[in-house]
Amino acid sequence: MTIPDAAATARDFLARTGLDPTLNRILVLAAVAGSDSPLTAREVFERVLAEHRINRVTVYRILDLLAENSAVNRISSTDRAARFCAGGGRWPNGHSLFHCTRCGEVQCVDNDALHIDARTLNAALPMHINAIDLRLDGICANCTAESGTADEKQA
Ligand SMILES: [Zn+2]
Ligand SMILES: [Zn+2]
Repeated sequence: MTIPDAAATARDFLARTGLDPTLNRILVLAAVAGSDSPLTAREVFERVLAEHRINRVTVYRILDLLAENSAVNRISSTDRAARFCAGGGRWPNGHSLFHCTRCGEVQCVDNDALHIDARTLNAALPMHINAIDLRLDGICANCTAESGTADEKQA
């Protein structure tokens, strides 16, 4: 099979992490990295399966391995199943998570968009910051659009 850009990036990232870049690992990591929002293990499995015959348990095991090696982030803070999103390779300045308090949607937010970086914090704070992973709560774009429509109906 040909290796598209996302998979090539995933392969390089695995090599840097010290993990053997097997095809299954490349496909799992590329599926996670190719999504703008964190995916459940089942969603990752379905995305990989669309391109390549793979066992569900294999995908779950690879996700665990990638999370243990910080190649992906495991998010278990919500009451739903754990979700996985891209690790450090995709966000040079780290990333934070937005939680919609209305629908429960979780989205990744590039720390660059928050205008926050460890160097600035280290200059201002007495402790040393290595990583920034903030929790942002609010109403997502979809829910904002829906409530806007509802308000118009009521008016
Ligand atoms: Zn929402
Ligand atoms: Zn994320």
